[in-house]
Amino acid sequence: MDICSWARQIASGSREEALSEILQYMQLEFFHSNNMVFSPELEVSVRSWILTVGEVDRGVDRKKLWHSEIFLLKQNLPPLPRRLFEFTMLSSRIMPRAAAPVRSALKAHTNLPRFVQFSRAYASSADEKDLVIIGGGVAGYVAAIKAGQEGLKVTCIEKRGVLGGTCLNVGCIPSKSLLNNSHMYHAIKHDTKQRGIVGVEGVSFDLAKMMKAKDTSVTSLTNGIEFLFKKNGVEYLKGAGSFVNEHEIKVDLNDGGETSVSGKNIIIATGSEATPFPGLEIDEQRVITSTGALSLEKVPESMVVIGGGIIGLEMGSVWSRLGSKVTVVEFLNQIGGPGMDAEISKASLKTLKKQGIDFKLGTKVLGGDPSGDKIKLQVDAAKGGKEETIEADVVLVAIGRRPYTAGLGLENIGMELDERSRVIIDQEYRTKVPHIRCIGDVTFGPMLAHKAEEEAVAAVEYISKGYGHVNYGVIPSVMYTYPEVAWVGQNEAELKASDTAYRIGTFPFSANSRAKTNLDTEGMVKIIACPETDRLLGVHIIGPNAGEMIAEAALALEYGASSEDIARTCHAHPTLSEAFKEAAMATYSKAIHF
Ligand SMILES: Cc1cc2nc3c(=O)[nH]c(=O)nc-3n(C[C@H](O)[C@H](O)[C@H](O)COP(=O)(O)OP(=O)(O)OC[C@H]3O[C@@H](n4cnc5c(N)ncnc54)[C@H](O)[C@@H]3O)c2cc1C
Repeated sequence: MDICSWARQIASGSREEALSEILQYMQLEFFHSNNMVFSPELEVSVRSWILTVGEVDRGVDRKKLWHSEIFLLKQNLPPLPRRLFEFTMLSSRIMPRAAAPVRSALKAHTNLPRFVQFSRAYASSADEKDLVIIGGGVAGYVAAIKAGQEGLKVTCIEKRGVLGGTCLNVGCIPSKSLLNNSHMYHAIKHDTKQRGIVGVEGVSFDLAKMMKAKDTSVTSLTNGIEFLFKKNGVEYLKGAGSFVNEHEIKVDLNDGGETSVSGKNIIIATGSEATPFPGLEIDEQRVITSTGALSLEKVPESMVVIGGGIIGLEMGSVWSRLGSKVTVVEFLNQIGGPGMDAEISKASLKTLKKQGIDFKLGTKVLGGDPSGDKIKLQVDAAKGGKEETIEADVVLVAIGRRPYTAGLGLENIGMELDERSRVIIDQEYRTKVPHIRCIGDVTFGPMLAHKAEEEAVAAVEYISKGYGHVNYGVIPSVMYTYPEVAWVGQNEAELKASDTAYRIGTFPFSANSRAKTNLDTEGMVKIIACPETDRLLGVHIIGPNAGEMIAEAALALEYGASSEDIARTCHAHPTLSEAFKEAAMATYSKAIHF
């Protein structure tokens, strides 16, 4: 059992059992590090610290925890295992500003062999790098820049020929360019009459120029990373890297030939690829993944999207706005993927249908035949209903992404993958070979660029400083459809599944002055909080600018805010974020304007 489950047990009341398990574990760690058992005084202090962790997890008082940690560290006791304190940071969602005093106390009052070992971990010989990173996507390039800033000798290997990985080249950035520009076109076409804007009846678009605008944004951003590499002294090798052994990496250079580089530390950041649909061969022309959907040369008359998750709905929206008849086939009865709150998902489904997208929910694609003019797909009701055939000019396969490790030579270092082909790591991103770490899409967690970025910074900090921090409870998600959908924290279904009590406050944009002024009133803010402590558990937004607004919610969750904290924070008027404040008011008391 890990420390998070322990802390949850403490919070849920089965304290004694959890307490003794943690204590036992700590004693073991302590014994391994110090070759001695807890003294009675130390046991008392550690017991009280564990109980505080549990309380903190319930949102009672985080400061108490930091103080108890600092107290423990200052006891002039034999060194405590450093991992114990990292566990606290991970499990009780302490943010870096809070962890800082703990860290400095840790440095000042402990003398851990591991700590010393970490600070020496990058003192390498002249031809050996302190850090070699395989993959120049968000995870890899951010780690490289951070390592440069930390004064490490760092090399980043990227085989694409340009930096930025999936996100910048065939993911977040190009998709948002097409989403933004197709939305502008669609809004001019369908949403100007009531605004007094005339003379736009014949509005049309130039697809090639729209694609060029997308490419320009991508190029300026990828070039920007090369500049940042130079600025931070990062060596950039264009080529495919593969492990020769646990320290040496062979690089097949894009320009021909090969070289090799060895690293005291290595980070695997090779990302992910689209999961193919069995029996449907991807040609990126007619049977496409999101990559093909970002560069179609003409608008298909009809498109079937297999998979109603975020990527499918975003790309489906683009082509629907540009005139394609889009049908989304989704196995589940809900769109947006498992993290999206069911109520918000329903609202999103309604608006996307209104925009002209067809949905076949609870429907399974059995197979496809692309041999004719139209691609034929056999579909069936997921629970065994009537089989039918649907036709489309283009089929977009958007059933998810899978970790990418092809050609990496993992077999040469005996690296373990789990049943979903993810590289197995511990809480410090270490693989079974401790100096080889792994971050981003290729390992556990949500496949999101900002998650990869957080891990990159933390992994480098583990190497250079011996500690790092990512709060996996506060990773926001955004679906950039119109209106946008964004959320952070837990949704109702997750809370029900874990038997956690909660209360809800909502506020519709139809009652928000700015949304009304903008004639853009679809959607709502939904806040979920703990009924006992009022601490925020989750925030779910569908509405204009939800993707920007969710940052405020993430900050609130990170700082352990209550809904009353938000409600009592002055928000500028007239703004859409007043809807967030009012939803918070509705959570602990009553909204004013609804
Ligand atoms: C259409 C689409 C839209 C998306 N939109 C969003 C969004 O809006 N927001 C968001 O947060 N996320 C979004 N994502 C997800 C996001 O792109 C990924 O989570 C992110 O790119 C992961 O970063 P990474 O560095 O782990 O992997 P990647 O970005 O995949 O980078 C890995 C890099 O490693 C390189 N590589 C692999 N093997 C080797 C090797 N052996 N040698 C050298 N180089 C190698 C690859 O060429 C690649 O460039 C989107 C994804 C897609 C497909």
